[in-house]
Amino acid sequence: MTATRILVVEDEDAIRDMIKFAFSKSGFILLEAETVEEAKTLMADDIPSLILLDWMLPGQSGISFIQWLKKQKAYSDIPIIMLTAKAEEENRVLGLDTGADDYVTKPFSPLELIARIKSVLRRGGPIADPKGQINVGPLCLDIYAHTASIDGEILDLTRNTYDLLRFFMTHPNRTYNREQLINFVWGLTADIDERTVDVQVRRLRDELKPYQQDHLIKTIRGVGYQFSSENSDV
Ligand code: CA
Repeated sequence: MTATRILVVEDEDAIRDMIKFAFSKSGFILLEAETVEEAKTLMADDIPSLILLDWMLPGQSGISFIQWLKKQKAYSDIPIIMLTAKAEEENRVLGLDTGADDYVTKPFSPLELIARIKSVLRRGGPIADPKGQINVGPLCLDIYAHTASIDGEILDLTRNTYDLLRFFMTHPNRTYNREQLINFVWGLTADIDERTVDVQVRRLRDELKPYQQDHLIKTIRGVGYQFSSENSDV
């Protein structure tokens, strides 16, 4: 499903339970791992929108997990919020230096956690409103109905093309190469090659063209594609 999925990597049951409680009213889907190894296994099938990462974990530490994530093409863009204990001030700085986007200090309130998550996700692009809609210019994506529309007219998209548009709309103004698009949009195990990415982009542009919105998807020569949410007025 396409609701925002958040992975927590945390060995303390009490903290995971607290996060579960915080999420029960937020609409986020929680994926849970107690160790880095478990997290890696989980992520092979399901790339989360954000990772909540404890520092002190049995086995591999949170910081070495960040270092690993940043080297993986499929995962390097996933935002990370570190969960740190009060006594770990230095770790917090090191975490941010290594590539964490933010941190929260334990114990934290559910409201604070949700606010931080939303703030970090917003930097990466718009997230759905409570009705499950994402609006960029005249384009409206309904993540519950799996449809996209312009001025109320529903576009005729295949599942693959819809998935591509959804990714673009939630990650605007950043360039992705074909390999990243395959990994982020359809997953590492998808039977989609780089040429198919071009085909999907062409189909999407063909659907947007009658509404003069095909310019939203830009070809970045020698790199890949970018969805532009700027100057998108008709
Ligand atoms: Ca811990």
